Amino acid sequence: MKKFWTILAIAVAAAAILLIVFKDNIFGNKKTEEPMMKNTAVVVVDELYDFIDGSLACQGAEECVKNSAAFLSGLEGVPILYTCDYHPANHCSFVGQGGPWPPHCVQGTRGGEIADELKPFVSEELVFLKGDDPMLEQYSGFEGHNAAGQTMGEVLEVLGIENVIVIGIATEFCVRNTAEDLLKAGYKVTIQENCLACVDPQGHVDAIAAMKGEGIIFTGSPAPVF
Ligand SMILES: [Zn+2]
Repeated sequence: MKKFWTILAIAVAAAAILLIVFKDNIFGNKKTEEPMMKNTAVVVVDELYDFIDGSLACQGAEECVKNSAAFLSGLEGVPILYTCDYHPANHCSFVGQGGPWPPHCVQGTRGGEIADELKPFVSEELVFLKGDDPMLEQYSGFEGHNAAGQTMGEVLEVLGIENVIVIGIATEFCVRNTAEDLLKAGYKVTIQENCLACVDPQGHVDAIAAMKGEGIIFTGSPAPVF
């Protein structure tokens, strides 16, 4: 019987030592998570009224804005960048000019404004305008510039960003082009899947499959509308 207690005591001591040595592996190490968030930024793509309830209203847009607001409100100390279609009235992408889209996000109109729910998270220097040249279509927010004339790449570099989380509208156009440009520029790109809206559900599904194949990471449950 004495032998049993001795073995038990040794077993308990061994377990305690193992727990101390491997506690970071067992319970996760907070220290490794903090620096990653430090190097992370969010890019909110085109959550603008014409894409939500206006001339180019997208599928799942209201849900996307609601989920985006909840997602952004849970972040602390993470830079939040916005991209905005910012077209002159004679933009080349409009049907009147031979383009594929109805007029949308015309400068100075409500259609080009960021959704009210997301305005509390806007910093002016982190808003990137695109499509303001009448002759140039720009789906990618990475090609945009802020009011001071800086590109998104320049600002991300100054902020020391390595990981970018992309959310917004529309999955298969401006979200995809922005995410792909970020990936090409060397960032680790993650898309929050419940914060997306699309022009066409099949296009949305196809775009996600293509982006996954390119190495873009998807997280968050898919929006039920798709
Ligand atoms: Zn546009």
